[in-house]
Amino acid sequence: MVVDGRRIVLKLSGEALASSASDETIDAIVVERLAVEIAETRSDLGLELAVMVGGGNIWRGTTGAGAGMDRATSDTMGMLAPVINALALQDALEHHGQPTRVLSAVHMAEVAEPYIRRRAIRHLEKGRVVVFAAGMGNPYFTTDTSAALRAAEIEAGLLCKGTHGGVDGVYSADPRIDRNAVRYDEISFKEVVAKDLRVMDLTAITFCMDNGLPIRVFDLMSPGNLAKALAGDAIGTLVR
Ligand code: UDP
Repeated sequence: MVVDGRRIVLKLSGEALASSASDETIDAIVVERLAVEIAETRSDLGLELAVMVGGGNIWRGTTGAGAGMDRATSDTMGMLAPVINALALQDALEHHGQPTRVLSAVHMAEVAEPYIRRRAIRHLEKGRVVVFAAGMGNPYFTTDTSAALRAAEIEAGLLCKGTHGGVDGVYSADPRIDRNAVRYDEISFKEVVAKDLRVMDLTAITFCMDNGLPIRVFDLMSPGNLAKALAGDAIGTLVR
């Protein structure tokens, strides 16, 4: 175990790779900015950094299920979406000189390495960024839960959840609706569950609670925040 918390899993939602400024599913300018921040922060702080990318910019299982599709099939489509995002992120990271490996939970030998826990750890030890793709490979789950699972598996000290919707942490209510909502600097897992606060899905939260894995929730889209979150600075909200 990396006891000083320098092994971190960063969860990036698929929608964080898109932007309102472009109609594209993946905005190259946004990916580029994130890649530069990830590469520079990793090297400045000497981190072992793994990224779990989501796929919500392309497909969500619940979308198809809501339209009458078989849920497992729709979720499988959802799992393929992060593979596309992971390749975009890998490309941008490597353009900035950051060696990167995409490890997919769904085997696709021509495209990405298979996820093998020991291999992921070895890549991290060598200073490569690992991008986890295809969630955990099982329908009915999310990439948030997959990020929590992988973080526990590789014995990461922290899970960083970057938000992109303008909400910079965990609030007592949705600040976009309730002007009196207050942001917590720190909050316990139990309180998040009891108050039904929407940090991550409940499966991810209870998994982190059971496994003592703290979560830092922060606004990813504000430049400089990623470095602060990965450095352990008190930004956004710490859930533990
Ligand atoms: N998904 C899944 N199993 C997993 C990870 C993801 O079935 O282990 C599917 C699920 O349908 C989900 C979609 O992939 O809606 C995209 O992932 P997610 O919604 O977590 O992406 P994000 O919101 O982070 O962009």
